[in-house]
Amino acid sequence: MSSIFHNTAVQIEIMCLDQNTMAPINATIFNDKLHQHQVMQFLKSSNNSLFENEQLIQYLTNLLLFFAKSVIWLMPLIFAIIFLKPQYFLNYKDTLRKLRIHHKALSQGPVKRYFENFFKTRIDQTNQISGECNQCGNCCLNQQCVFLEPIEDEKFQCGVYNSPFRKFSNCGAFPISSEDIERYACPGYVFNPYPVINIQCSSSVKT
Ligand code: SF4
Ligand code: SF4
Repeated sequence: MSSIFHNTAVQIEIMCLDQNTMAPINATIFNDKLHQHQVMQFLKSSNNSLFENEQLIQYLTNLLLFFAKSVIWLMPLIFAIIFLKPQYFLNYKDTLRKLRIHHKALSQGPVKRYFENFFKTRIDQTNQISGECNQCGNCCLNQQCVFLEPIEDEKFQCGVYNSPFRKFSNCGAFPISSEDIERYACPGYVFNPYPVINIQCSSSVKT
């Protein structure tokens, strides 16, 4: 949005709060060079594309989950081959049981998050996050990832961490927002919000 506002003019209505009563008040920012309908058109098309992206993301999410469920019985073999871990196939029943749990966990948000991250529609707050991972395994589908392996001191490690195929997953992109940290109660990272700046609005501001 900033590019259209740069060196142009806008007339937009913004909603803000009265600092005394905290009641919402309407404020208008005027500028001459761009007509209101152009701004509204821009906002409308921008809202439309967000909506279209949301629909596409939902469609791709459902498609991937459906596909994964259809071929789940094949996955122990495929994983044994691509991750060079024959135990996934040798322990077929156990792997399949874990895969079903994994699939259910995936359907509760992570696949959608993957596509939101891919299409950059998810808020990225990485520059406001600090800390380090203590290997609790929470963000690995709440410790339900089929590849998660327990190590000492109630810690976990990723059984396919060094595989190039892991790069195609969501795993390297955690956490990117405060929502991520909250969702998995991540004990390693903290979100450091930017300080709040109060902007005083008036009901008619003209430039
Ligand atoms: S939830 Fe946080 S601390 Fe736990 S494994 Fe994930 S990144 Fe590491
Ligand atoms: S990092 Fe490894 S164990 Fe964790 S979710 Fe990703 S693949 Fe699973």
